[in-house]
Amino acid sequence: MEVFRKVAEIKEFVRQKKAQGKVIGLVPTMGYFHLGHLALMREAKNSGDTVVVSIYVNPLQFGPQEDLASYPRDEQRDLALAGEIGVDAVFIPADAEMYPNGFSTYVEVEQLTSGLCGQFRPGHFKGVTTVVLKLFNIVTPDRAYFGQKDYQQLVVVRKMAEDLNLDVEIVGLPTVREPDGLALSSRNVYLNPEERKAAPLLQQSLLKAKEEIVNGERSPEKIRDLIARILQSEPLIRTEYIEVREARHLEPLEYLEGRIVIALAARVGKARLIDNILVEV
Ligand code: AMP
Repeated sequence: MEVFRKVAEIKEFVRQKKAQGKVIGLVPTMGYFHLGHLALMREAKNSGDTVVVSIYVNPLQFGPQEDLASYPRDEQRDLALAGEIGVDAVFIPADAEMYPNGFSTYVEVEQLTSGLCGQFRPGHFKGVTTVVLKLFNIVTPDRAYFGQKDYQQLVVVRKMAEDLNLDVEIVGLPTVREPDGLALSSRNVYLNPEERKAAPLLQQSLLKAKEEIVNGERSPEKIRDLIARILQSEPLIRTEYIEVREARHLEPLEYLEGRIVIALAARVGKARLIDNILVEV
């Protein structure tokens, strides 16, 4: 496995692979790998791609009050795990490599980024799309792999790729969870033991909501209220939002039908956790 820190180096690696007719698969990450990251890498590998993983904690997508400084990092462990999976190259740029002095160009997907997480993290998705487009331009992947855990991010990246005619297939993969249902996240390390015990209630509330819909409930309001009530029963959980939306374009719904996503965000101790569930009616 090759490790590159310079844009010019990874570009040259990709150029050579493409000359050999290889298909390039990119897995963008912020590192501190868990089984969710590894599932994306495995899928890329199983698809026969030459797999490039980027590890970059992108300052542009963190707000001033957010956890950029404390975001967990473990480069050596990440490299060992990527190596075990058979990743072909890891790209680990420094900030100065991604955003040299005077950097001043940004990419923003409108509308889709105004609600859900966008409402609570101003500028976050602008940071995400800017770095993802840069990574796409640097690595020129044929396919790029994203997790459904960050559902809005997946929809926003798909929209950017469509709107800007990017030649990349966006592959979305299911959320990988702990045995008790908590969605894996690098941020779960912020949870103390009590908070960790409370956190699976996020998914439990979504499963309960799904059950209600399957049993015939069609009111988004009632579904939101149900989840809110469940989460209020746990004092360690402070709900940020609960949204019931049409799954492809995140349009609000007055009546539940078609492909639906229920997405939520909550503060649990120092961690801001998100989760979602897809329901088809
Ligand atoms: P991150 O390092 O948190 O920015 O995540 C990098 C990629 O891994 C993103 O596409 C995430 O959606 C994906 N990811 C993070 N957590 C999970 C999970 N629990 N299951 C599946 N994919 C995930």
